[in-house]
Amino acid sequence: MKFNPFLEDIKVYEAGKPIELVVREFGVKPEEVVKLASNENPLGTNPAVAKVICAHADKAHLYPDDSMYELKASLSEKYAVDETEIIIGAGSDQILEFLSRAKLREGASVLMSQVTFAMYEIYAKQVGAKVLRTPSYEHRVDEFVEMMEAHHPDIVYLCTPNNPTGDAISKKDVMEIIDAADPDTLVVIDGAYMEYAAAKDPQYLIEPKDILQYDNVIYLGTFSKAYGLGGMRVGYGIANKEIIQGLYKMRPPFNISTLSLAAAIEASRDEVFLEKSIALHQEQILRYEAFAQEYGIETIDSYTNFITYLFGDTRDASKVADALLRKGVIVRNLASYGLNAIRITVGTQAQNDRFFALFSEELT
Ligand SMILES: *Cc1c(COP(=O)(O)O)cnc(C)c1O
Repeated sequence: MKFNPFLEDIKVYEAGKPIELVVREFGVKPEEVVKLASNENPLGTNPAVAKVICAHADKAHLYPDDSMYELKASLSEKYAVDETEIIIGAGSDQILEFLSRAKLREGASVLMSQVTFAMYEIYAKQVGAKVLRTPSYEHRVDEFVEMMEAHHPDIVYLCTPNNPTGDAISKKDVMEIIDAADPDTLVVIDGAYMEYAAAKDPQYLIEPKDILQYDNVIYLGTFSKAYGLGGMRVGYGIANKEIIQGLYKMRPPFNISTLSLAAAIEASRDEVFLEKSIALHQEQILRYEAFAQEYGIETIDSYTNFITYLFGDTRDASKVADALLRKGVIVRNLASYGLNAIRITVGTQAQNDRFFALFSEELT
């Protein structure tokens, strides 16, 4: 079959491995598998949200409210923006896809940091755009500004905090990059982990209302990480009205499900669960930092719900990830990103205990 030739250059996105695979391949009992690979909320589904999902089970025959009025109203209040400045997607991934198709075509170019979220490249290549990367794995303002001036990219992706490295860009630096962008360069601020950065250091908090005055900036958020709804697939884009209207031309009808919509509405109103999630994370990540220090492992200062262990030439990340997998601990090997490192989602106390116990067996 002959496909669009642009697809020849695309490597299929490799998602974190599921629990079922470890059970099937290595005979680990399902309850003993520790999944720390996909940055999911270790507290599990918010019980209040689970209740709402069940309560909507008999509404599965109905299409959802396509205006998504209630969810937009809740986000509009939360972020102090107008409902016309919001678009909802099946994960913020779907918004990334919309904006790539809305903005790019063959010969266009996109700019991102050396090591960042893999989907930016995939969506860009689907439409024949060229991918440019800054030299450093973390976001550096001088590198972005220099490359924007040299190449005038159509889209600039600022993943802050950044997946899979955990670094973040301060608000001051983000504003500097925005100010240096051409008026027709769309600057995408992917805030999938913004709740964690905001809690760690307010200088790293970018709020949607900070960017609404610009005609060329969009903020993306998701319910998949701090809100614990990865399985429901709900994300959002916030930008000035003209950008949102453009993206609406890309949107299929009913793009999130009735159950997802109900779940996100409930989750968006529950600050207590969010605070509990952040508090657990802040307490537990200290243990990962201490562990790394004890074993001489280099880390990147993390503003996210995961931590990256860099191995340099001390050990092989692929071997480490594989050995852990056989013991039932799933972490993310970053070899495919060009880093000899693993990314570990910070789990519950018990999950982290198990990680430390099994990993230290490997190290000694
Ligand atoms: C998880 C993630 C997303 C989006 O996830 P969805 O589940 O599609 O909302 C976007 N960007 C980054 C950097 C992520 O890590």
